[in-house]
Amino acid sequence: MTGAPSADILLLRKMHPLIERSLGGRFTIHRLDEAPDGDALLREVGPRIRGLCAGGTVDAALMERLPALELIANFGVGYDAVDAGAAAARNVIVTNTPDVLTEEVADLAIGLVLATIRRLPQADRYLREGHWPKAPFPLTASLRGRRVGILGLGRIGRAIARRLEGFDVAIDYFGRSRQSGVDYTYHDTPVSLARAVHVLIVVAPGGPETKGLVGAEVLEALGPEGILVNVARGSVVDEAALIAALRAGTIHGAGLDVFENEPHVPADLAALENTVLLPHVGSASEHTRNAMAQLVVDNILSWFEGRGPITPVAETPWRPRA
Ligand code: NAP
Repeated sequence: MTGAPSADILLLRKMHPLIERSLGGRFTIHRLDEAPDGDALLREVGPRIRGLCAGGTVDAALMERLPALELIANFGVGYDAVDAGAAAARNVIVTNTPDVLTEEVADLAIGLVLATIRRLPQADRYLREGHWPKAPFPLTASLRGRRVGILGLGRIGRAIARRLEGFDVAIDYFGRSRQSGVDYTYHDTPVSLARAVHVLIVVAPGGPETKGLVGAEVLEALGPEGILVNVARGSVVDEAALIAALRAGTIHGAGLDVFENEPHVPADLAALENTVLLPHVGSASEHTRNAMAQLVVDNILSWFEGRGPITPVAETPWRPRA
């Protein structure tokens, strides 16, 4: 690498091949998950690790073992698994991968809305299982004449809303504050939003602030014709309350890309016919995962070449030099 200091980088697990390929020749890479004794690896190389490539939990205890750590490059825009506050307190920069996945996740969210309302996976199963010659597939709910609510009108939320404009539906939203430059109807509580709409799309960040934001009261407000779609984090929805609501008919159905305890999905949820369940694939196309991986690499290169991080998260202490 021209003019850049070499550094020891820790990878917590197998990362996207582009990350391993790009960093491999330039830095000294250590893979925690491949070490026969992770504790011994941290004892040995922990003190000289300057960069961390993360796609999972990074807590204060781990940071404690990496006293020379400068940068945590998170693979993903959501960084609720990284203790960004603890990183900031240690002057450690955290970067994420915003924007490059926005349109992909918005596409997936729209797909999940339609799949859930029109029961596309169930219809596919119906055909494959040979039921069609005996009787047509039962009629479904519809997006026609419906209001759609977005909980978290950020980058992805806005991209979802832009797509929904083409579907000729009314759009409402909830966030911590009203946003300028949008005509959508604002609600100052999740319950108010849920009460006003038929389809509720959750796309706010995970973490302690949003834990269980969609609980029994919100589901009750969404009502028996309501559809819940979660492409945010499993923690934002109270899964037990959701299962109870789906069973009781408190809401009509749910489309979920994310779960409380991934990759484990409660059997109770999987047994329900009024759900469409995806294994956290919001950004999981080759195109977009490549773009995310490139941004992880670019953040690491930029930092260790002295140009600062490209996409630091809000909590991060770094400010550009004047
Ligand atoms: P973003 O631009 O930061 O948008 C987040 C939105 O959530 C903001 O509009 C914010 O609005 C709102 N928000 C933040 N904290 C909130 C709170 N405590 N209560 C209510 N609303 C809150 O982020 P993004 O790029 O759109 O990504 C959103 C999330 O999607 C990520 O954090 C990630 O967890 C998830 N995601 C999932 C997948 C997947 O594969 N399923 C892929 C990518 C991202 P206010 O500031 O007005 O509150």
